[in-house]
Amino acid sequence: MKIHEHVAKEIFGWEGISVPQSQIAETSQEVQEVAEKLGKPVVLKSQVLAGGRGKAGGIKFADNPSMAYKIAEELFGSELKGEIVDKLLVEEKLDIKSEFYVSVVMDRSAKKPLIMASLEGGMDIEQIANNTPDKIVRYYLNPLDEFLPYQAREVARKMRVPNNLISKVGSVIWKLFNVFKKYDATIAEINPLVLTDNGVMAADAKLEVDDDAIYRQKKLAKLENVQKDEFAYVKLPGDIAVIGNGAGLTLSGMDMLKLYGGEPATFLDIGGGSSQENISKAIKLVISNENVKVVFLNVLGGITRADDVARGVLDVLNVSQRNVPIVIRLTGTNEDEGQRILAEAGLSFETSMEEAAQKAVKICKSLS
Ligand code: GDP
Ligand code: MN
Repeated sequence: MKIHEHVAKEIFGWEGISVPQSQIAETSQEVQEVAEKLGKPVVLKSQVLAGGRGKAGGIKFADNPSMAYKIAEELFGSELKGEIVDKLLVEEKLDIKSEFYVSVVMDRSAKKPLIMASLEGGMDIEQIANNTPDKIVRYYLNPLDEFLPYQAREVARKMRVPNNLISKVGSVIWKLFNVFKKYDATIAEINPLVLTDNGVMAADAKLEVDDDAIYRQKKLAKLENVQKDEFAYVKLPGDIAVIGNGAGLTLSGMDMLKLYGGEPATFLDIGGGSSQENISKAIKLVISNENVKVVFLNVLGGITRADDVARGVLDVLNVSQRNVPIVIRLTGTNEDEGQRILAEAGLSFETSMEEAAQKAVKICKSLS
């Protein structure tokens, strides 16, 4: 399970790693208030689970609170790497002297934790790893042995950090390994670990926790609302967004669409037992993609209830600014109630997947 940056930073902080001052905000007004409270230039950081936010435009700087408000207006509700931005971390802007890279990952082929570290961190770490792999120190740990602070300093020395920073960077590496171990992580990463006038700090924080260990990470589960509203989403080159409950059904929907001459713009599996909120979130996500002309919502309710689905659809229609036709196939648990809700709102629906797919293709062609 991937953990959001702001939660990861909180955890890193508990374990003694320095992190910048920050606060999470859910509205532009809140963003402005936090910026006022911090009383200095800030960084607005989109809280999506994907990496590479900086390059994708999800990390922005603001010199003052009113500028922070303006930028927040643009970021909230925008799509970033397949996710909708609904939370921003408002963080003091650091005066960065240099950017390092440190991480601990579980190397499954070696069956050992691996520390990776580099004097050259930041947004181009993938390129560095590809073009000049020698610049990355790799240090394997024996999972049966304790990892001692002097070994962490050895990693820092191998990174060639300046002598006066070896103990500081070593200490971060040692603490990062403790996070990794304590929280059953598969990845714990700081990129960049930055040098400022106030020492070294984690400017970014990435943490992924082994799904099989979530049951014993109660503290974490409480913070993250474990996978409550996550779905499997893949963006595709077509113009009809396909949403289904369950991967198999979603794929069948795509096949059917293709059969009738349509091109899917997404694969989006909302999963079993999806809530009203989840349905509307999924639809909002796919229609934020400008290429999408029609949404094909294909639901055969099992644990997912058709009435929740219908209400979720209405929620979107009530707020959406983009008028994208939604073709709905709705059957299964509570179908009578679900279909009644749609009919009452003046929405048509299908009960057969074939007919819904045909209809979606037809509408899409009529629009182009
Ligand atoms: P990522 O792109 O998803 O990894 O997001 P990061 O949190 O790493 O931010 C991207 C980049 O923004 C970092 O590599 C830094 O170069 C820059 N950045 C982030 N926070 C600050 C900050 O407080 N001050 C300055 N000057 N740059 C920052
Ligand atoms: Mn980063």
